[in-house]
Amino acid sequence: MAHPGLYLHIPFCSAICPYCDFAVLTGGPEMRARFVAHLVQEIRLWEADRARFPGIDTIYFGGGTPSALHPEQIEEILHAARAHLSLDSEAAVFFEANPEDVTPETARAWRDLGVRMLSLGIQSFDAADLRFLGRRHTPDAARRSVEIARSAGFEIVSIDLIYGLPGQTPATWSRNLAAAVALEPDHLSCYQLTIHEGTPFGFRLARGKLAELPEPEQADLFLHTHRFLADHGYPGYEVSNFARTPDHRSRHNRKYWDHTPYLGVGPSAHSFSGLADRRRWWNDRKIKPYQARLAAGTRPIEDGEDLSPEDLVTEALLLGLRTAEGVDLGRLREVHGCDLAPGNARLIERLERAGLIRTTGTLLLPSLHGWAVADSLARDFVIPRRA
Ligand code: SF4
Repeated sequence: MAHPGLYLHIPFCSAICPYCDFAVLTGGPEMRARFVAHLVQEIRLWEADRARFPGIDTIYFGGGTPSALHPEQIEEILHAARAHLSLDSEAAVFFEANPEDVTPETARAWRDLGVRMLSLGIQSFDAADLRFLGRRHTPDAARRSVEIARSAGFEIVSIDLIYGLPGQTPATWSRNLAAAVALEPDHLSCYQLTIHEGTPFGFRLARGKLAELPEPEQADLFLHTHRFLADHGYPGYEVSNFARTPDHRSRHNRKYWDHTPYLGVGPSAHSFSGLADRRRWWNDRKIKPYQARLAAGTRPIEDGEDLSPEDLVTEALLLGLRTAEGVDLGRLREVHGCDLAPGNARLIERLERAGLIRTTGTLLLPSLHGWAVADSLARDFVIPRRA
């Protein structure tokens, strides 16, 4: 069985971006220090159950902005994880940072803490895009952060970008992609802008002050992103993720896609127990109830669910068809006792004829056009119920 992962949600950001739908807050030094104490306490509360997540070999700091904490606070959290959880001695640390927090000193400190993959939340190299997205850094600061990360010697330097902004065209987006590949990162994540209800962008959309890019144009940009990056040495290995080589892929994120167990700590963090007892649970999203439960000495779990074998098969299809490795129907049969082939033979044939998937043996491999509609591909499958 693959080793479990650990996700740590650090909710702080220096300001909240108008499109953000994550569990985030600003918060001064005192609030941040209190949060670190609570997070350490939450980790400690897992000690009695550490055997449920044996030999964790990936540790992912996400958020929010983990780089909003001091490196000493990150060290304190890592120390608690090593002391109270079952960690593999070679566990790899993945860390998200905003460009404005990257200096030669912070980069060296993160490197010394064992950070192997540094993901930089650059989002765009275009000043007007950055202003629209409410980001605080400039294109120059973004470039500088990549250069600093490179010279600090991280094994994997990754750039996060957002596309699908109103008015964006393949030509304007290409300039952004070209700026990114010129910096020779090892990995790129390119996400389409989604406008969520309840965010400032959501309100602007509802009032007619903001228009989403029409779907056909979104689809063009999606295809253009994959073609451009593949041509420049970064083939996509998942709908939104691109790596120079298979060794530069995110080992941690893969765990979410293939049902490896993971423990999540911090507000809004999700956990999954693994295929044996099929339990998923999640923490309080807001900081107050999160801290109140910890103050009362209990884990800050808001709710959870027991997943049926059918739920897991649906997820395996949804997630697998988003990856280059696709879905192996033989493996689904072995792992979940669910044979999708007979009930879906005509659908599979239709998808193949439409050029959305390719089949080899029991493998379903999505094409680039299939990736563009990956979620709807999975939805059409009939999942047989087990007696
Ligand atoms: S930096 Fe990221 S997590 Fe923080 S508010 Fe902006 S989008 Fe959200």
